[in-house]
Amino acid sequence: MIKFLDLEKVTASHGTEINEAVNRVVNSGWYLQGKENEKFEKNFAAYIGTDYAIGCGNGLDALYWILRAYIELGVMAPGDEVIVPANTYIASILAITDNGLVPVLVEPSLRTYQIDPEKIEEAITPKTKAIMIVHLYGQNAYTEKIGDICRKYNLKLIEDNAQAHGCKYGDRHTGSLGDAAGHSFYPGKNLGALGDAGAVTTNDKLLADTIRSLANYGSQKKYVFKYRGRNSRLDEIQAAVLDVKLRHLDEDNEKRKRVAEKYLKEIKNPLITLPEVQDRDAHVFHIFPIRTKYRNQLQEYLTNNGVQTNIHYPIPPHKQECYSHMNHLSFPITEKIHAEELSLPMSPVLTEEEVSDVIRLINDFKVK
Ligand SMILES: *Cc1c(COP(=O)(O)O)cnc(C)c1O
Repeated sequence: MIKFLDLEKVTASHGTEINEAVNRVVNSGWYLQGKENEKFEKNFAAYIGTDYAIGCGNGLDALYWILRAYIELGVMAPGDEVIVPANTYIASILAITDNGLVPVLVEPSLRTYQIDPEKIEEAITPKTKAIMIVHLYGQNAYTEKIGDICRKYNLKLIEDNAQAHGCKYGDRHTGSLGDAAGHSFYPGKNLGALGDAGAVTTNDKLLADTIRSLANYGSQKKYVFKYRGRNSRLDEIQAAVLDVKLRHLDEDNEKRKRVAEKYLKEIKNPLITLPEVQDRDAHVFHIFPIRTKYRNQLQEYLTNNGVQTNIHYPIPPHKQECYSHMNHLSFPITEKIHAEELSLPMSPVLTEEEVSDVIRLINDFKVK
């Protein structure tokens, strides 16, 4: 079987270094808020290109903390609006609603699957305080136009960089393009831990200090509590593992790009729409999304032929039960993507032979 993502193999590909790192922490007797966090945060901030990185429990928390800190700092208040792409993963939107803020959904472009910069301005109201862009599938979503809109309306630009570690806009990494970025190190992400983990990156010292405190019970000084915070910390084992994997991130992403390039070059079935790539550095292929009207048939056919695929995502957020007040809304492009998208096997450990097998099967696919 060709797996969608063979995590056992991904971990084994850096196994010696990961085992060494895990053992070092286990034997150190120090498991939280120690040297490993300090080292990873420093290296991750340097990699992304920001002054600060703050480790936290997971990617949803990272996004939540950014907005919560802005509320604590008086930059926004519950009831204010945050613009976000309608086709994102639910976590981007949960971070907004968990803070009592209002998500305003904007359609993506059908070419890039990223928020359509041309449709942002019409969604702005006097209550809009931020735009959350999501570098979906591993592709940069930032454009100059988005930067201009943020300056014109005095909006915070927040990046959901959960899927795009290593992705670039020009010579800058995503995660350094806005006021703050949330990162997920969920095991399946391009930079994945061996469990849950996340981080915020920013150049804003006040924001960084506030988040560090909020994610540590709201405390800045031991046993003194400034905010009603929570416990959302990055543990030392995960930080040590992430530091190892960060060193190999570019080389792992390069392997993903080679898989993607082969798919792009060799898939030649007129029933399939391939993803459009702006430039080589602007996509790190967390996901390789194809589209077809015959998505369910293609998925079943691939499954029957031993190829695991996934759908990102089957139901858009505005059609979910948890957002029943949005169920009546219509986002035709988003709904089309959710009806037609299929994610092909993608990882740094796929062999050329496996990729060739997937391509051959897809090229042989016909509709009965
Ligand atoms: C994975 C993901 C998140 C959430 O990250 P977790 O670490 O799983 O909480 C947020 N946004 C996007 C776009 C994601 O893909």
